Amino acid sequence: MKIAILSRNARLYSTVRLVEAARARGHSARVLDPLRCYMRISAGKFEMHYKGRVLRGVDAVIPRIGASITFYGTAVVRQFEMMGVHTPNSSDAILRARDKLRTLQLLAREGIDLPTTVFGDNPDDTVDLLAMLGDPPHVIKLNEGAQGQGVLLAEKRSAAQGMIEAFRSLYANFLVQEFIREAKGADLRCFVVGGKVVAAMQRQAPDGEFRANLHRGAKASPVELNPIEEQTAIRAARLLGLGVAGVDLLRSSRGPLVVEVNSSPGLEGIEGASGIDVAAKIVRSLERAVQQRKPPPKGR
Ligand code: ADP
Ligand code: GLU
Repeated sequence: MKIAILSRNARLYSTVRLVEAARARGHSARVLDPLRCYMRISAGKFEMHYKGRVLRGVDAVIPRIGASITFYGTAVVRQFEMMGVHTPNSSDAILRARDKLRTLQLLAREGIDLPTTVFGDNPDDTVDLLAMLGDPPHVIKLNEGAQGQGVLLAEKRSAAQGMIEAFRSLYANFLVQEFIREAKGADLRCFVVGGKVVAAMQRQAPDGEFRANLHRGAKASPVELNPIEEQTAIRAARLLGLGVAGVDLLRSSRGPLVVEVNSSPGLEGIEGASGIDVAAKIVRSLERAVQQRKPPPKGR
């Protein structure tokens, strides 16, 4: 197969590993910077151009679209879809996952549990909004944040109000959640590929921090998921329509809660913690999908 990895940086661990895994299985693999892909659209005809040439014969793309290039990156993925190129994550699925509120609405509709979440636009509603959640602490987060940036803990109602005012003054979309104390600063990253959890890790935030992002100094360790956790992760990826997903769960007293689903989950932490060749799992799943001409999960 001819596989294109859509990534802004060919030297990133995840990108390097995907290229290696594809070549190890006899495929040709090339990294394309999505911002250097340009497109021609006419009635019934779609072309992708790259550095002065028309791209032909690509069988599959693996999109690694960062939050800062969501609009252009998903347009590129969509163009490949129009050209009949397989992608494990469709442009629509990437957009669903990027929007935390939309993700939680779609999952909640199917009965998947999550931290109770409120959102609202008007400052006059803030007091009522916080009352709907119950007693503090509350977690306030940017709707499209990543790597724990813009995820804040408010111990008191007055602090929550101040943070909400700050976000509003920046015209930033945010949501407010109940704080899941029992998680004790840990979360579970479940790596889902082709409808299976292929690897999982627990991430533990350092002392005094509740966000378990590796970029914030959390430590990763291997973890056994129980069947409910595994099923929750698989269902969440399927409902969003993601063939490759990092589903983040909190262990709470009422069972696993989905906090977010990542459409470009990093490979370094998970391969290091689990010892599993996740890149090879992604490439194998791609082979199966292309052989069977299987479209990516639709999501709903
Ligand atoms: P990001 O997309 O920036 O990683 P998340 O919503 O995943 O944002 O939050 C980052 C981390 O903060 C989570 O992985 C989890 O460890 C912690 N966290 C998020 N929401 C809650 C919550 N409601 N209660 C407790 N911890 C939370
Ligand atoms: N980009 C990484 C991911 O999505 C960040 C992981 C983290 O910091 O926890 O997996």
